[in-house]
Amino acid sequence: KEMSARENNVAKIKVVVRKRPLNKKEISRKEDDIVTVSENALTVHEPKLKVDLTAYVEKHEFCFDAVLDEHVTNDEVYRETVEPIIPIIFQRTKATCFAYGQTGSGKTFTMQPLPLRAAKDLVRYLHQPVYRNQRFKLWLSYFEIYGGKLFDLLSDRKKLCMREDGRQQVCIVGLQEFEVSDVQIVKEYIERGNAARSTGSTGANEESSRSHAILQLVIKKHPEIKESKRRNDGDESKPGKVVGKISFIDLAGSERGADTTDNDRQTRIEGAEINKSLLALKECIRALDNDQIHIPFRGSKLTEVLRDSFVGNSRTVMISCISPNAGSCEHTLNTLRYADRVK
Ligand code: ADP
Ligand code: MG
Repeated sequence: KEMSARENNVAKIKVVVRKRPLNKKEISRKEDDIVTVSENALTVHEPKLKVDLTAYVEKHEFCFDAVLDEHVTNDEVYRETVEPIIPIIFQRTKATCFAYGQTGSGKTFTMQPLPLRAAKDLVRYLHQPVYRNQRFKLWLSYFEIYGGKLFDLLSDRKKLCMREDGRQQVCIVGLQEFEVSDVQIVKEYIERGNAARSTGSTGANEESSRSHAILQLVIKKHPEIKESKRRNDGDESKPGKVVGKISFIDLAGSERGADTTDNDRQTRIEGAEINKSLLALKECIRALDNDQIHIPFRGSKLTEVLRDSFVGNSRTVMISCISPNAGSCEHTLNTLRYADRVK
């Protein structure tokens, strides 16, 4: 009873903003913190110059489902965003949690601990008397979308492709899924996947900022208790019917979508792809919010992959990460405007 009551309380779409603290570099440069938070509203104090070069401040105010300031811990982020969704994963819900924002705004910092905490809670639920005899199991997969292509982060960056069956179910052919029965194993897979994320000569953060990382935790119901073998193929006849799932998505840096005029051809292509996927994502969430019949999945690889998470009983949490420093003002405003349109 308690659970169904809670189910009704979990909004279909929730938009949360998280502000990170000023970092050492910003402090040493004596940059101002231009973002003030008050309950679920925030104000950006944009420094501007008049034609005669006198300085003034333009204020921009925004309101969201929740605004988390620089003092909020990752634990509190979990409680605000993912925790309320956990019980309804067992009731055929497909949930998605995104981190959106410019590179350096705290997306990875915010997203990293969430699947681990979620797995801990999911495993705890699995052991509850109501579910214990249901043969539910928890599975994990972790992949990346880079330049419009899919790579399995848990099997040597194997290139994957996507297929849609007649019932509009998306299937990522060849994606490795691992059964995870305890949290320590989840931790190991996450670390292994992180190590496999796109890293170029320029350093990890630089390259990973051009890819979307997608970690999925899936609850499946198994026909036989002893069937717990690893799945190696995308065959639909394999045991285990999906009960519910939650996807954690560390999106590409939002500013990368603007790399469409870069001199480097590869960078331009990636920039165009990122731009397309972030626009398509916004359109899909808006369509979902308006209960539209037609959801424009086909706009990008990202939204196609997430197709089954946008239909039926779905929940979406968007965590928009922002930097507080004056130098990031333009990107911060762009992020907040994006979040505002999703809301
Ligand atoms: P992104 O993934 O958006 O590029 P990161 O998550 O890598 O950004 O964050 C950039 C840097 O800022 C990292 O060193 C990270 O540890 C730090 N950071 C981000 N958010 C916070 C926060 N809320 N509190 C403390 N440090 C943070
Ligand atoms: Mg990152």
